Amino acid sequence: MTFSNAKFSDAVLAWFDHAGRKHLPWQQAVTPYRVWVSEIMLQQTQVSTVLPYFQRFMASFPTLADLARAPIDEVLHHWTGLGYYARGRNLHKAAQLSCERYAGALPDTLDALMALPGIGRSTAGAILALGFGQRAVILDGNVKRVLARHQALAGDPAKAAVSKAFWALANALTPTQRCADYTQAMMDLGATLCTRSKPACSRCPVQTSCMAYAQGEPTRYPEKQRKQAVPTREAILMIHRQHDQVWMQQRPSTGIWGGLWSFPEWPADAELPEQAEPLPAFMHVFSHFRLHIRPVLFSSRAVLGVSDANGRWVTLSDLPALGFPAPIYSLLQRLGARQEVC
Ligand code: SF4
Repeated sequence: MTFSNAKFSDAVLAWFDHAGRKHLPWQQAVTPYRVWVSEIMLQQTQVSTVLPYFQRFMASFPTLADLARAPIDEVLHHWTGLGYYARGRNLHKAAQLSCERYAGALPDTLDALMALPGIGRSTAGAILALGFGQRAVILDGNVKRVLARHQALAGDPAKAAVSKAFWALANALTPTQRCADYTQAMMDLGATLCTRSKPACSRCPVQTSCMAYAQGEPTRYPEKQRKQAVPTREAILMIHRQHDQVWMQQRPSTGIWGGLWSFPEWPADAELPEQAEPLPAFMHVFSHFRLHIRPVLFSSRAVLGVSDANGRWVTLSDLPALGFPAPIYSLLQRLGARQEVC
C-alpha cells in the first residue's frame, strides 16, 4: 500500500471535481458571513434540513450588520425547529461583537474567530478556508471519520491526546493549493461516501490507500464513545388560555430552550387546580436527557403561580414572530386548530 499526503489530497480533489457538491446555496455568492451561518446551521444537522432555514435566514438577515441589528426574538424565530438554539443565540452575539470589534466584518484569523461565541477550531478553519480562501484546517465529525478510517486511527477522538493526533494528521494532509475545494471535498466525502454505518468504499477515491478498508472492517473506526444512559425528566406545562389567547413566557437565556418562548413550567409533582384539563403528554428528546412533558390547559385570564415578568398573551390564530421550541410550536398549532373546532 502506498500513501503520501500529496497523493491523498490529489485523489480527493480529483474526486471533488466530478462528484463534489458545488451548488449548495452557501457555495453561491460566497462571503465569510454566508459560510459562517451555513457552518453553524450544519452542526448536528443535515444539509437537506438546513437548506430552507438558510434561505429564509439570508432573506431576512442578508449581511452580518443586519443580523447584529435584529432583535434576538426575530433571530430565534428563524431558528424555530432547527434545534440546538444556543447556536442561534451565539450567532447573534458574535455578529454584534464583530460589529463592535471589526467594523461589521468577520475577522480573518483563527484566534480572533475562535474568540467569538459559538466558533470552535474546526468552524473557524472552515470559515477561513471556504470564506476567506486561506489555507486552514478543519476537523468536523465527517472529516474525523474519513481520517480515522483511512489511517486506522485507534482511540476515542474525544480524548485530548487522540484529538491532537487527528489535528496533526488533518494539518499534514491539507494542501496549500485549492484548500477551499479540498475542505469541501473532505466534508462531502464523509457525508456522502464514508458514511457512519455504510461506507461506499467501492466508489471512494482513497480506497487503495485506506487502512480500515484493507483490514476489512471500516466501521470499526473511529472508536465509538461509550453511550451513557439517558435520564428522563418530567415537567408540567401550564397553558392558561382565554378565548384565542394563551399566556407564554420567555425562558432564561441559558439552559434548555434558552431565550425561547414556552408555557410556564410547573414542577412534576405540583398540585394542579381542579379545573385544569390534562392534554395528551409527549416526550421530547434532548442530547443529554428526555423530557416527558404533560401539558395542562387552564381556561382563565388569571395567571396562576408565576410572575408576569417576561410573559405575554399570544394570539393562537396570529402567532407572533418569536422563537418557539419545535414541540411548543406544534402544541400551539394544535391548540389553534382545537380553538377553531370549538
Ligand atoms: S475506503 Fe471506505 S472506509 Fe476508507 S475512506 Fe474510503 S469510504 Fe471510508
